[in-house]
Amino acid sequence: MPIDPTLPYDRDNIFAKILRGEIPCSKVYEDDFAMAFHDIAPQAPVHVLVVPKGDYVSWDDFSAHAPDALIAGFVRAVGHVARELGLVEPGYRLLANIGVHGGQEVPHLHVHLFGGQPLGRMIVAR
Ligand code: 5GP
Repeated sequence: MPIDPTLPYDRDNIFAKILRGEIPCSKVYEDDFAMAFHDIAPQAPVHVLVVPKGDYVSWDDFSAHAPDALIAGFVRAVGHVARELGLVEPGYRLLANIGVHGGQEVPHLHVHLFGGQPLGRMIVAR
């Protein structure tokens, strides 16, 4: 069920629990600013989620309220993960879903990193 991205941050969301180590994940990368792990229901041969270490509901919340150092660290972490996964030369896709029209289901900002095959159209034709 898509979430309302204007609601306050919920510290019990699933990615907050993963960041705190309360539930397991298949971790790909971690630094002071971000953690990356495989999506539990992959939609491409490579489907990794990158989440910032901070209480931000969405891209909207993060871009408006996160400190510059965290924004820079998060963006660098996303690029680092893609390079480490060997995705730069063949190419890859980044996606952030925001709110109801975006189809966001987990209320902690995350970027989807897709790769491993040609990814087709950005949005499925209706
Ligand atoms: P959204 O629609 O919010 O952009 O995407 C949420 C993503 O989180 C989905 O692709 C879903 O498969 C993934 N996901 C949901 N719960 C878990 C979980 O417990 N662990 C992992 N690794 N991924 C999850």
